[in-house]
Amino acid sequence: MQRKVLIVEDSKTSMNLMRSLITKAKLRPICTTSLVEAKHIFSSSAPEEYLCAVVNFNLPDAPNGEAIDFAIESFLPTIVITGSINESTRTTILNKSVVDYIPKENPQVYEYLTRLLNRLDKNKKVGVLVVDDSRVNRHAMTALLRRHNFITFEASNAEQGVEYLRSHSNIKLVIIDENISGVSSIQMMSELRKTYSKEDLGIIGITSDTTSGLSARFIKSGATDYLNKPYCHEEFFCRIMQNVERLENIETIRRVANSDYLTGLPNRRHFFTRVAASLTIKPKSQSLAIIDIDHFKKVNDTYGHDCGDFTLKELAKLVAEYFIDYTAARFGGEEFCVYFSNTAPEKVLQIMEDFREAIANKILTFEKKKLSCTVSIGLTHKSKGGINAMIRLADEHLYSAKNNGRNQVVDD
Ligand code: GH3
Ligand code: MG
Ligand code: MG
Repeated sequence: MQRKVLIVEDSKTSMNLMRSLITKAKLRPICTTSLVEAKHIFSSSAPEEYLCAVVNFNLPDAPNGEAIDFAIESFLPTIVITGSINESTRTTILNKSVVDYIPKENPQVYEYLTRLLNRLDKNKKVGVLVVDDSRVNRHAMTALLRRHNFITFEASNAEQGVEYLRSHSNIKLVIIDENISGVSSIQMMSELRKTYSKEDLGIIGITSDTTSGLSARFIKSGATDYLNKPYCHEEFFCRIMQNVERLENIETIRRVANSDYLTGLPNRRHFFTRVAASLTIKPKSQSLAIIDIDHFKKVNDTYGHDCGDFTLKELAKLVAEYFIDYTAARFGGEEFCVYFSNTAPEKVLQIMEDFREAIANKILTFEKKKLSCTVSIGLTHKSKGGINAMIRLADEHLYSAKNNGRNQVVDD
């Protein structure tokens, strides 16, 4: 279901801008121009349909942030937009439990709104652990984090914190205060880095000491960022957002580097990484299969390259489905490779026979045209020479399968 965003804004220009960027973010803008209208529309829909509200601080029928109170009382994460921001407006806004405020200063702030909307949705899956010996400080931080939809965890010492990390793989960020019970914050950071890399876990150190270089020691001990106390809400959220976005960017780069662009299957490079990982547990048996589509050139020549691409994608889906418990990849053009460890050779042969048959029986429909294809498979269970030798052997068997008439499996 497309989530809704309630907009309460009386300026036409700003409304149009927001409507367009909210739509671009694949959300549904519900546009209202006054508090009365917002109340009316909201009362006739289910609150859970809404991701958040974007509310102007100053409206003709709500001149002092009354629309913000309405949105917050309706349990909507609330983003405030305001034409001018002075110290008194800022304090009034921040004293309310808003997600953030956006001064309409320049076009860049609307880009920030897009980022915020995106985060509010994604943060629901992101855990943040706060380690601080002061209960009051911990609560203050987790209350702020929850405004941004994060899943929060609290620990007063390193041991408790490590336990949370071990049992909750959704924790992507740890905020460590300079004062924690037991071991020091610096020790905790360096201990965490033995298990969690900077690519997998962000660590923010918090200190009130601005003279002894503790913030630099945090970074040297494994922190990815730091905050000086007392910090303002805005800076707190900017730092959190930046750290979480950094981790997501790394995740995207990893995914792109490891997968095949056309089919989304792991690519050749990732295949070798995964095989190397399974070799560390010294498997008792190994098998490797190379699957090659028969006369694939004909598919391209007869139905066009787009149809060829479509066929590859459909076949890749079947490869992913069939070999979900094993390591499969698109190896090149119209070739796929599957690696098995600790699976009996007879079982592997049966799996490959079943797969070959499933492909032969599969009818594909591309632009109302029906087509089918077959595959030839070379399979080896001889693992003595290592993975490259297995690939060579499987390739030789594939060559035999092609020469013997295609649509068949040949093994050792
Ligand atoms: P054989 O049964 O001997 O394997 O014959 P074949 O036609 O499948 O083998 P050949 O190696 O002669 O041709 C492979 C074809 O696969 C040629 C190439 O254009 C096509 N191909 C490779 N990658 C892609 C791709 O990403 N998309 C499309 N549409 N075609 C591709
Ligand atoms: Mg080929
Ligand atoms: Mg082929």
